[in-house]
Amino acid sequence: MAKVLIIGAGGVGGVVVHKCAQLPEVFTEIVLASRTEAKCKAIAAQLKRPIRTAQVDADNVPELVALLNKEKPDLVINVALPYQDLHIMDACLEAGIDYLDTANYEPPETAKFEYSWQWDYQDRFKNAGLTALLGSGFDPGVTNVYTAYLKKHYFDEIHYLDIIDCNAGDHGKPFATNFNPEINIREVTAKGRYWENGEWVETDPLSVNRVYDFPAEIGPKKIYMMYHEELESITKHLPEIKRARFWMTFSDNYLKHLEVLGNVGMTGIEPIMFEGKEIIPLQFLKALLPDPASLGPLTKGKTCIGCLARGIKDGKEKIVFIYNTCDHEACYAEVQSQAISYTTGVPAMIGAKMILEGKWKAPGVWNMEQFDPDPFMEDLNKYGLPWQVTDVTEANAAEMKD
Ligand code: NDP
Repeated sequence: MAKVLIIGAGGVGGVVVHKCAQLPEVFTEIVLASRTEAKCKAIAAQLKRPIRTAQVDADNVPELVALLNKEKPDLVINVALPYQDLHIMDACLEAGIDYLDTANYEPPETAKFEYSWQWDYQDRFKNAGLTALLGSGFDPGVTNVYTAYLKKHYFDEIHYLDIIDCNAGDHGKPFATNFNPEINIREVTAKGRYWENGEWVETDPLSVNRVYDFPAEIGPKKIYMMYHEELESITKHLPEIKRARFWMTFSDNYLKHLEVLGNVGMTGIEPIMFEGKEIIPLQFLKALLPDPASLGPLTKGKTCIGCLARGIKDGKEKIVFIYNTCDHEACYAEVQSQAISYTTGVPAMIGAKMILEGKWKAPGVWNMEQFDPDPFMEDLNKYGLPWQVTDVTEANAAEMKD
């Protein structure tokens, strides 16, 4: 039916390729392009069906346009880094191709997470008759779709939303990040922010925490409030929400390492001079840390990511939790990646399928909660990320009330 060009051959890229390859009736042709073609070839070698690979620097727009004009895909799936988003969107506009990504644009020089740069492309995509789907990973991505689904089927109005991301997996390394270390540490060390009564409230990094009792044998874990990009689009598109927050689990060990690395300046993103050469401490640290893709065979345990929503249905207060749990080892057995890459790569494939099947195809730049959630939710159940909606225990409801 369609040809896709996937850009980025990292942890997430590997999963997207595997999942697209499992659906030959939708993804009839797959091309995987990245900065280092050898990584594309290594992923291609894991598959049962042939795909093509290419080398491309996605920051070089003319080079990318030439590749797009040569390959003429129906859709570009961008799973490179957030720094490349605008360049890839520019190239898609020039070559007339639909676009999808999993993370909002970040300027390399500041850890600033906002959709403004990509929302600015609205008129250009609309006028060109092209679709751009932003943030089709898990969070952002599935969390946005969960919110839209709850709004459609469970609530008249959602007033309080807590997005909760738990990774109860263990890779046995003293310190490692589950996805690109540079992007992960920039996000975690940034100031926290949540939405309350029409404005953003800022908090010091990881200074607010609670204990949430997770399902699926995970049990109680400490969760830390931080900013996450879906808060911006969800509160824009569901203005009834009075308060929206994002929480993530971190082990004491992860936080201890992060604190020490931060104290000695290793997480900085300002260039410093070292032996006559300019280096960025965080990029140097990334070179020392385990490649997230190497954690696949080592990681055991589960993830649980969900949305706790409180609001009104038929005049009565209601509170529910919608979530998925995913097992690291099962993911590795299926696609040779741990669950963090898996939970991002599967929704990227489903988002692509939605566009290619015309279910989520409309000229303009879109966030996930703007489309009908039902076909996406159906596919989550079919393609590896089944979800459940449950009541909330009194203890969890009380813990998350304020
Ligand atoms: P990795 O670092 O593992 O992979 C990134 C890939 O992009 C690498 O293959 C890298 O190439 C390639 N790349 C980087 N720069 C360029 C460039 N200029 N041109 C071409 N290719 C380039 O990252 P992940 O796979 O962990 O993450 C991929 C994306 O997914 C990120 O944007 C991340 O923020 C997002 N993400 C989203 C989540 C969600 O739930 N929404 C969760 C987790 C991640 P090379 O190998 O040469 O370095």
